[in-house]
Amino acid sequence: MKYNFWFVVGSQDLYGEEVLKTVAERAQEMAEEMSKSLPYPLVYKVTAMSNSQIADIVKEANYDDTCAGIITWCHTFSPSKMWINGLANLQKPYCHFATQYNKEIPNDEIDMDFMNLNQAAHGDREHGFIAARLRMPRKVVAGYWKDEKVHKRIGDWMKAAVGVAVSKNLKVMRFGDNMREVAVTEGDKVEVQTKLGWQVNTWAVGDLVKEMNLVTEEEIDALMAEYEDKYEVNTTDISAIRYQAREEIAMKKMLDKNGCMAFTNTFQDLYGMEQLPGLATQHLMAQGYGYGGEGDWKVSAMTAIMKAMGEGGNGASAFMEDYTYNLEEGREYSLGAHMLEVCPSVADPAVKPKIETHHLGIGMNEKDPARLVFEGKEGDAIVVSLIDMGGRLRLICQDIHCVKPILPMPNLPVARVMWQAMPNLTEGIECWITAGGAHHTVLSYDVSYEQMKDWARMMDIEFVHITKDTTVDALEKELFLNDLAWKLK
Ligand code: MN
Repeated sequence: MKYNFWFVVGSQDLYGEEVLKTVAERAQEMAEEMSKSLPYPLVYKVTAMSNSQIADIVKEANYDDTCAGIITWCHTFSPSKMWINGLANLQKPYCHFATQYNKEIPNDEIDMDFMNLNQAAHGDREHGFIAARLRMPRKVVAGYWKDEKVHKRIGDWMKAAVGVAVSKNLKVMRFGDNMREVAVTEGDKVEVQTKLGWQVNTWAVGDLVKEMNLVTEEEIDALMAEYEDKYEVNTTDISAIRYQAREEIAMKKMLDKNGCMAFTNTFQDLYGMEQLPGLATQHLMAQGYGYGGEGDWKVSAMTAIMKAMGEGGNGASAFMEDYTYNLEEGREYSLGAHMLEVCPSVADPAVKPKIETHHLGIGMNEKDPARLVFEGKEGDAIVVSLIDMGGRLRLICQDIHCVKPILPMPNLPVARVMWQAMPNLTEGIECWITAGGAHHTVLSYDVSYEQMKDWARMMDIEFVHITKDTTVDALEKELFLNDLAWKLK
């Protein structure tokens, strides 16, 4: 889907045609100029002067699948009672951009005519009041419209809004059920469909095996060439890699045929399959599909959404699991990995991931599954977990800093990422556990906490952020108050 955003400019009919014409021309110019540096086009739609004009543009926005959100601004004053009927029906993400056409106050030119035309400081306050009064979920961005920092903030919000559009259309394919007895991977599928739009449904592993049997050797040859191009083959067991290619092709066909951008499977249900999909799943994730291990459909869906919110619509975001700690003083790190399935989008770009085959003791694997082995790259990132609190969803986001793994770990046969959690390892663990964060997360280098906060607000779910400044005491208080607030909502 090619998304765009609509620029809706507020005004009124008191100013005369000349002023309104100037407003419309400038709004058009601003939208065109800003579109050059924004990730999605900003399309000027209307200088709105009446209740019906605003109601009409909102109706149009609601029904246009390509419109991922509206951005409003008031060049002049726009009495906000005329916005109530429109905003009350708005179903798209909404950003209030508080800016003005001129950067500086022109000393000689300024007179009352100038003031009447350039009164965003005044108009944007009236506009802000009505959204506050209506309790609208919205983003407020203030700054000069040519400023790069402003473009970055609006661009980031646009990507979060695209995350909303992706979420509302997301279908998750579950091959089999969740891992037996696990609590955190459970959840209310009716609730997520109501709140987030996700359609989460099950397909039989037997259907996948049937599809796998239909894959041709030519199809496998073509995918093998792609693997060899992108990765270094570090095994002599070529048949194991070909088997993963067969799994990938079959899964991709089923996902695409059913319009699913995310999937899950579990090592407890591989009936008729020789290997748990490893390389197959990793290469699907590299193409933007979400994945969750052990039937974890919540993390799978979040992976797909955060990938879509990232750079170029398929960013460096990966299904991740906290495994083990290095608790040595001064070198305190978490080691994250999974049995097989870590997305190569988070790999150090200087080193080609290696395809290897190793024994996997857990599950029903008859053969050693092929998987990609690599190290995660260095850099600031976040880990995100969506949990079902019973009656509501909580999104937990923790700031982390990833490092080059401090040990080579030559006998660890999986991809690995190492990081410092904020505020530090032990307090970070205490905060995460206090909030109920899962062992499965989405780790992202290019989606920011602010984008996840914006996404959670647009989705109307609880958001908890663990930062360098978070303390366990403050967090406990926040969670207690959140609990009360969400009961009342
Ligand atoms: Mn797991």
